[in-house]
Amino acid sequence: MTIGTDVAVAAAWLRRGALVGIPTETVYGLAANALDPEAVLQIFAVKQRPAFDPLIVHVHHQDQLAELVTHVPDEARALMSHFWPGPLTLVLPKTTRVPDIVTSGLPSVAVRMPRHRLTLELLRALDFPLAAPSANPFGYVSPTTVAHVVDQLGDSVPYVLDGGPCAVGLESTIIGWEDGVPVLYRPGGLAVEDIEAVIGSVRSNVRQVLPVAPGMLESHYAPRKPLFRGDVKQLLAEHAERPVGVIAFRRRIEGVVCETLSERGDLIEAARNLFAAMRRLDAAEIECVLAEVFPDEGLGRAINDRLRRASFVPEAE
Ligand code: AMP
Ligand code: MG
Repeated sequence: MTIGTDVAVAAAWLRRGALVGIPTETVYGLAANALDPEAVLQIFAVKQRPAFDPLIVHVHHQDQLAELVTHVPDEARALMSHFWPGPLTLVLPKTTRVPDIVTSGLPSVAVRMPRHRLTLELLRALDFPLAAPSANPFGYVSPTTVAHVVDQLGDSVPYVLDGGPCAVGLESTIIGWEDGVPVLYRPGGLAVEDIEAVIGSVRSNVRQVLPVAPGMLESHYAPRKPLFRGDVKQLLAEHAERPVGVIAFRRRIEGVVCETLSERGDLIEAARNLFAAMRRLDAAEIECVLAEVFPDEGLGRAINDRLRRASFVPEAE
């Protein structure tokens, strides 16, 4: 595997049907030609991702949608003009050109324009869009640096484009339309408040079960160590006997391994730091992770969503 910043090399691998690691502002992706089912199949194999979990298709220009989707609601156009390129994925009715393996057989396809110079350059060099989920084994925390990708998928990808650490650090916010009404499928790197400022209120369908939004699987984004959420002081008292790590918003807690995500209390900075902190705690000499509940606003909602999914739920007795 090679790490580099050569868009032409990355493009050559992709044209040959191989997988390439790509940087985006959300997380690193594992990309393949979205119109080539054989290439896309490899993504599922490498990630050990179940075939029922559909992929996001990445474009560099809105004109590419004509080939991929049959209808773009006015609200979707408005969101694209405000937030693309950016951490917003739109679920729209698909054309027959999009292979079923990309959408797990769903009649809709998820599309996004990533906000990263190298990846936009790569997409412009290709005459096909890229299907790309996060570049991590299925169910694990998403990679936000090139080192995270190499650690976990280094042996399975010929080339990873190094675009530096991800600026947003959380997966995209996913919006679709049901009977013409906008629906939130996954909170993410674009605050729902910002979306609602453009198209009005959005219904939340985040807890929708399979198969509509499999990214919403309960045990997703999960570190290997048990993670408990709640009032950290109380959790520390409950786990006083064992070495623990803490994920805190702005506080620094002495006497334990503490990952403070933003001392100045900035949820955007906290989101950017979350996944790397989860990985460091997974590698630290601790037995479990205690996480604060973040303010339920802006990117705090997406942070809480990921921590909730990562949290350890003891089996019912
Ligand atoms: P990621 O896990 O970042 O690769 O994002 C993929 C996620 O996008 C999936 O797990 C789904 O939650 C969502 N998604 C992709 N395609 C669709 C679709 N057609 N309908 C609803 N959700 C979708
Ligand atoms: Mg993922």
